[in-house]
Amino acid sequence: MNDIPCENCKEFYDLQKRIPISLPCGHTLCKVCLADVFKRLSYIKCPVDSKKHFLKLDDFPTNFLVRKLISGEITTYASSSQIAKPINTEPVMKKSKSTPDNADTSSKVIYFFL
Ligand SMILES: [Zn+2]
Ligand SMILES: [Zn+2]
Repeated sequence: MNDIPCENCKEFYDLQKRIPISLPCGHTLCKVCLADVFKRLSYIKCPVDSKKHFLKLDDFPTNFLVRKLISGEITTYASSSQIAKPINTEPVMKKSKSTPDNADTSSKVIYFFL
């Protein structure tokens, strides 16, 4: 999960109430903020750049990129490298180091008879 805050109310987006909504001006706001603006003005005025958008509340598209980020469907580069770090695949190969040298020669013999 990635926590991404709404540019207006600074609350994190979620998948039920604070759905990230794209405005035609390029800004993304949560649906709570949009509904709040819409109630007062009957159109959407972007709180970031004051552009007016004369669309119905339900006609604004969901910002699916933000939606995927907050739902964890896609991760940012920073968080995916953190996940990759603890993975350690070495121990399987290292075991032969602790066995004595003759173990190595015997495996050669077996190979010879094959
Ligand atoms: Zn908001
Ligand atoms: Zn805007």
